[in-house]
Amino acid sequence: MTSADFVPDTRSLRTLRQAARDCRGCPLWEDATQTVFGEGPRKARLMLVGEQPGDEEDLEGEPFVGPAGRVLDDALRAAGISRGEVYLTNAVKHFKWRARGRRRLHQTPRAGEIEACRPWLEAELEAIKPVGLVALGATAGRALFGPGVRVGQDRGRLLESPLAPLAALTLHPSAVLRLHDHNEREGAMAALVEDLRMVAVGVADR
Ligand code: SF4
Repeated sequence: MTSADFVPDTRSLRTLRQAARDCRGCPLWEDATQTVFGEGPRKARLMLVGEQPGDEEDLEGEPFVGPAGRVLDDALRAAGISRGEVYLTNAVKHFKWRARGRRRLHQTPRAGEIEACRPWLEAELEAIKPVGLVALGATAGRALFGPGVRVGQDRGRLLESPLAPLAALTLHPSAVLRLHDHNEREGAMAALVEDLRMVAVGVADR
């Protein structure tokens, strides 16, 4: 089974979001609090796609509201992009985790889970029709652009994609968060900002 059995024909974001609450397209819903669907205006010209909701996103039901979301906010601000004008979503709409004591640790979704969730992402892409599309991190990159893309080799430039006129792959903000060395962290943040700005400038020119 995939989420295709649960995606309605409409491309109304409100109806899609509502329908996604009841998705049982893969087993990830079982341990999650709720579906975390994308957020942002339908007329957004820039769409950012992350991997999956984290612990705070799972509890609040909103994408990018946890620590990685705060890094993303800083990066958007530095790139001159207003978060309110961007559509933010994830390749997988339920939080995948394992328990360590009382903590819930992030688990990378499997290829089959990303595939099962793809119909929601496709519906969001059809609803938004973004001019600029940015995958945040390797999982989103593979979900959008195929298995051959790598953040290390493909960030910093525009990619050819039928999904949007301007497409790019950059670091996930959580990758910035994981770096403890100050200089490495600054460098990763600068790369994230540079990539977001590159696409935003292209979007503004169209
Ligand atoms: S992760 Fe995606 S496919 Fe799996 S249950 Fe959640 S919304 Fe459905």
